[in-house]
Amino acid sequence: MDIPGPWQRTARGALLLDDAGELATTIFAEMSALAAATGAINLGQGFPDEDGPSEVLEAARRAIADGVNQYPPGPGLPALREAVAEHQLRFYGIPLDAAQVLVTAGATEALTATILALVDHGDEVVVLEPFYDSYAAAVALAGGVLRTVPLRWPGFRPDHDELRAAVTDRTRLILINTPHNPTGTMLDRTTLELVIDLAHEHDAVIVTDEVYEHLAFDAPHIPIASLPGGFERTVTISSGGKTFNTTGWKIGWLSGPLDLVRAITAVKQYLTYVNGAPFQPAIAVGLRLPDAFFTGAADALRAKRDLLSASLREAGFAVSTPQGGYFVVADAAPFGVTDAADFARRLPELAGVVGVPLTAFVLPEHREGYRSLIRFAYCKRPEVLQEAAGRLAGLARA
Ligand SMILES: *Cc1c(COP(=O)(O)O)cnc(C)c1O
Repeated sequence: MDIPGPWQRTARGALLLDDAGELATTIFAEMSALAAATGAINLGQGFPDEDGPSEVLEAARRAIADGVNQYPPGPGLPALREAVAEHQLRFYGIPLDAAQVLVTAGATEALTATILALVDHGDEVVVLEPFYDSYAAAVALAGGVLRTVPLRWPGFRPDHDELRAAVTDRTRLILINTPHNPTGTMLDRTTLELVIDLAHEHDAVIVTDEVYEHLAFDAPHIPIASLPGGFERTVTISSGGKTFNTTGWKIGWLSGPLDLVRAITAVKQYLTYVNGAPFQPAIAVGLRLPDAFFTGAADALRAKRDLLSASLREAGFAVSTPQGGYFVVADAAPFGVTDAADFARRLPELAGVVGVPLTAFVLPEHREGYRSLIRFAYCKRPEVLQEAAGRLAGLARA
């Protein structure tokens, strides 16, 4: 009989490990390893396979050559904090002072620092489910309690009554993500206004993960901080990784009212202190690129969405059309699939591609309803998606 390791016995350990005591995120690693071992096209992990704008890459090289290689200031280099403030005004009309911006090690650290700073033991955090995997881990580390609002196939829109019921006086944070990973849904204005009303009514803070803000296909992205009553209660989080194809740089930021930003800074300084000095001015260059770059990036990704969605449909999947972001969710039920994790493991052999089962993004007790769904990434070069289309066509013939 295995004796659990010391931290596995804690509530935090139990939440971060799976039933077998393994790190609960291994499905991503397992699927990537499977892709590597079988030569399957890896549409599991969401990272682009080509470089972003040359101006941004060149600015990082220049910064290294210019000696921007030591610890930057704790809240981030002024050039980037100013560029974030300018960006929020330029795209969304949100007036922001650079002092209200904190640079972080990716959006991930911004999320974790925010949750650790604002959530006390037993406080509730309302999230849309399925959710980006770091949310549950950070809430567990803070000793908080996750309250989920389900997003259901095929539209993945939150039900307003369920949202209302989830937010109570025990709620400390309402954590939203739009455009949404893994479903590609985007919250409409009415839903965002409801979130603001609920936050005011129950004295909760809104945290919004907007890393796909520039990758919206059909309607413009609406930051909740731009709506009446929103800014004063909202910590807005984004990062350069998804917008500029620089996911490995891990340059993120958050902004909001000064008292919230100060509280989060106090935690952040003991997580990483600072990161990525030469990448910070480079992302500042990116944020100041002309509009054509941002619309071009969304247009290119929309074409990729359409290409992969069409090939999944032709192969026999039912497909939910994503409104933004990197991912499309496909339903394998037409193939008689009732266990997407098992199907995902067989997919490299069946079709030469890899995806991730949606059950990886929900609490174990909520897997029902997601059992035949698989997430595929389309943030890949057109020729890679064409090759995937050809392989998926084989699935229809099989
Ligand atoms: C990729 C991603 C992140 C992480 O962003 P980093 O800047 O790489 O830390 C956070 N949230 C969502 C929804 C993501 O898809």
